[in-house]
Amino acid sequence: MSEFCAEHDRSTRLQAQVQEALAGAQPLGIVGSGSRASLGLVPAGASLSVADHRGVIDYQPDELVIRARAGTRLIELEHLLASHGQRFAADIPVPTAESTLGGAIACGWDGPARSLGVSLRDTVLGCRLVNGRGEIVNFGGQVMKNVAGYDLSRLQAGALGTLGVILDVSLRLAPLPEKQVTRAFAVRREELEDWWPRCRELRPLLSASCWRDGQLYLRLSGRAGALDQVLPSMGGDDIAFDWKALRDLRSDFFGATGLACLFLPPRTPMAIQEGETLLDWEGARIWVRGGNHPELQRAVQDAGGFLRVLRGEAVPPVVAAPDWHRRLKQAFDPRGIFNPAIFSDQFGGGGEH
Ligand SMILES: Cc1cc2nc3c(=O)[nH]c(=O)nc-3n(C[C@H](O)[C@H](O)[C@H](O)COP(=O)(O)OP(=O)(O)OC[C@H]3O[C@@H](n4cnc5c(N)ncnc54)[C@H](O)[C@@H]3O)c2cc1C
Repeated sequence: MSEFCAEHDRSTRLQAQVQEALAGAQPLGIVGSGSRASLGLVPAGASLSVADHRGVIDYQPDELVIRARAGTRLIELEHLLASHGQRFAADIPVPTAESTLGGAIACGWDGPARSLGVSLRDTVLGCRLVNGRGEIVNFGGQVMKNVAGYDLSRLQAGALGTLGVILDVSLRLAPLPEKQVTRAFAVRREELEDWWPRCRELRPLLSASCWRDGQLYLRLSGRAGALDQVLPSMGGDDIAFDWKALRDLRSDFFGATGLACLFLPPRTPMAIQEGETLLDWEGARIWVRGGNHPELQRAVQDAGGFLRVLRGEAVPPVVAAPDWHRRLKQAFDPRGIFNPAIFSDQFGGGGEH
């Protein structure tokens, strides 16, 4: 294992740092590799770095489960899994070579395969955390069977480090597909609504979809025999499409200064007047660059969805935060020391994360 992932257990030091911060009533900004800071989203407070708390604790390829420390680089984990013919069960973005497992769990962000597979949250089997009382606590387990009671480990996915310092995580894995092919089709934006039902007929072989600039890209993954049966009658052109660049937001489309992401209920068509668009999740997620963010927010709300701005003009949250956000924060972090600015922006004063 060490061939891929350096081994460093810093649990005791991280716990001591939290206890010191508690004693001094000092807020802590939890940092993995800091890639989210490139978006201007820097957690306030003295920096608590988890990046050197790394290494694989347990990997059972036969069980399709891995447990690793939060600072382990995602790219190292990907290499390790691939060497055993496996991958994360979820489509986890790896925006930089330094991005950490803990940061990915805390962000809870999913790639283009999400609509046809599982979300990152659903693949979290268990985790260990330093909570806001300075205690190390364990949630969930390392087996795929459902646990009884509240699932507090999955709650960490998307919590942006507001509930505690993730020390290690157990994640569900999947085998790498035997064969993978991407076909491209010339499809106008207004024709897409006819295409999505056809896409559904390709399940479970369809593993991702993306539309941009009049081209619909469909990825099929699975057993070679099953793909060979479907491909001859499918039409379209075989193409080398960089799905990882889309997953990791590295393709040229994402380089824009104004970038927003719209999440829509399934099968909700939405016309976008301004800006350039890229669709994935079979049309349920729309990326817009160069759009008018306040107008987009109004339109997406009317359609029953929500908007997140990645770059450019921010829009104030429109949905009041549910009271349970505050109650959860109170239970995990009663003194409010973890990522306080992120909590009030994203979970305390409204917002949709
Ligand atoms: C171009 C680009 C676009 C991105 N877009 C988004 C986006 O739209 N939404 C989004 O949420 N993320 C986004 N990210 C962030 C991305 O998902 C994460 O950067 C990455 O996977 C996390 O790795 P990291 O180690 O750099 O985490 P960091 O960037 O260091 O941390 C990310 C968040 O997780 C928390 N965190 C980190 N480690 C821990 C831990 N061990 N325990 C508890 N909390 C922890 C931090 O406090 C912070 O809130 C983007 C990144 C890039 C480069």
